Amino acid sequence: MPPPPDASRLIRAVTVRNGQASVRRRARCHHCGDVIGVYEPLVLLGSDGRRETSLTVEPQLAMTDEPVFHRDCHAARAALDVG
Ligand SMILES: [Zn+2]
Repeated sequence: MPPPPDASRLIRAVTVRNGQASVRRRARCHHCGDVIGVYEPLVLLGSDGRRETSLTVEPQLAMTDEPVFHRDCHAARAALDVG
């Protein structure tokens, strides 16, 4: 029986699509530090403000220097900030 597709395989697919051998970074949540999966909704805090996207839509975000969050982590963090 073939093994089921897993997250690491999906992340590798993103790397190939970027066409850069040097691309080794994965998007990591700024809140919990875990890798953000390709199909997980993420929140990007960019210079233009906050927006929701995903690595499926914007695979180049795996290399961004701007903070990215799991959507749920960002919501939790925002709740803390508000107090
Ligand atoms: Zn997180």
